Amino acid sequence: MTETAYTETDERRALRAAVAKLASGYGREYFTAQARSGGKTTELWLEIGRHGYLGINIPEEYGGGGGGIGDVAAVCEELAAQGCPLLMMVVSPAICGTVISRFGTEEQKRRWLPGIADGTRTMAFAITEPDAGTNSHNITTTARRDGDGWVLKGRKIYISGVDEAAHVLVVARTEDAKTGKLKPCLFVVPTDAEGFEYTPIPMEIVSPEQQFSVFIDDVRLPADALVGDEDAGLVQLFAGLNPERIMAASFSTGLARYALGKAVAYVKEREVFGAPIGTHQGLAHPLAQSKIEIELARLMTQKAAALYDAGDDLASGEAANMAKYAAAEAACDAADRAVQAHGGNGITQEYGVAGLLVAARAGRIAPVSREMILNYVGMHSLGLPKSY
Ligand SMILES: Cc1cc2nc3c(=O)[nH]c(=O)nc-3n(C[C@H](O)[C@H](O)[C@H](O)COP(=O)(O)OP(=O)(O)OC[C@H]3O[C@@H](n4cnc5c(N)ncnc54)[C@H](O)[C@@H]3O)c2cc1C
Repeated sequence: MTETAYTETDERRALRAAVAKLASGYGREYFTAQARSGGKTTELWLEIGRHGYLGINIPEEYGGGGGGIGDVAAVCEELAAQGCPLLMMVVSPAICGTVISRFGTEEQKRRWLPGIADGTRTMAFAITEPDAGTNSHNITTTARRDGDGWVLKGRKIYISGVDEAAHVLVVARTEDAKTGKLKPCLFVVPTDAEGFEYTPIPMEIVSPEQQFSVFIDDVRLPADALVGDEDAGLVQLFAGLNPERIMAASFSTGLARYALGKAVAYVKEREVFGAPIGTHQGLAHPLAQSKIEIELARLMTQKAAALYDAGDDLASGEAANMAKYAAAEAACDAADRAVQAHGGNGITQEYGVAGLLVAARAGRIAPVSREMILNYVGMHSLGLPKSY
């Protein structure tokens, strides 16, 4: 293929093909079987880790592949496109891996990054709280100094994959010595720490990855559990947000591609009026629309990743938000159209299409809701007044 600014490199395309091949050995049946039996996707997770795909964005000196967000986003998308969307890819290598690579001390990078890269020491990420919700400026999980270390107290909700993680990167607040105001800070908390407890939240998503309520009851942490600089917590937190959005977009475009693929295969085969139902424009046009919407969302995701990897956080922020919005919308529509194309079969467990609906729908809510993206675009791209 001709290489232009609008196409991916041969290397990136080869990466996609290799991940797709690996993931197709597992596929949707494996994923749903694990989800419905309470199993996990550990074999798949460790295999992508062994091949170097999981930590492809982490610097080589810490066990990673030395690539960018564009690479790890491609891995996330290809896994989802084979029916294995892994939320922990968004969280562990992309959010936690990025924040620690950029702001951790040398010792912290050596301690945590290799396990994130090979998948043996997954890291979850916890910012959401029951009373703060979208307004993360209102979080109340607090860290107070205790001798050389810290004592952490608070509560988090909807935290993905805590049961599969060795650590959680927790967003808390410390008191500013000068102003007395609480400022955000990031702490790495071992999931087996005393006082750290979590319970699963029953969700309607068909996925082996679960969400948890987390209770942090006077958890004692050493001084070096604090990642980066106590006075630059917000900057550090924001550094993880663009990768998060780019990854969430890739998760959604992958899911959308999977849904569309199922629908197209089905409408080519199924006949009820003497010709494949894909002959009818009532079915063909919505699927064509999905193809267009998915490709547009992928293009914006690749642009956001390219800007981020080139070091332009500001321009990447706008593109990452737009990509995340467009990808979630494309995934919701593709999943809905795939169900419709399957008729009654679309609702059966055997065909596994309806199970995509809630997963796609979650993309409109997490990690940042569509409304907050529209707020962002309204304010930052259009210069409209802040509405909240
Ligand atoms: C599957 C899943 C996995 C998740 N994993 C994690 C995780 O690993 N770690 C983590 O920290 N969190 C996680 N979350 C939480 C997720 O980030 C939050 O659910 C999300 O940020 C929305 O917060 P909320 O649920 O409290 O909704 P609320 O803040 O209560 O919002 C409810 C609704 O009101 C809208 N709304 C709120 N304020 C405004 C406004 N100013 N303008 C317009 N609309 C507004 C929102 O868009 C939303 O539609 C996960 C959630 C899900 C569903």
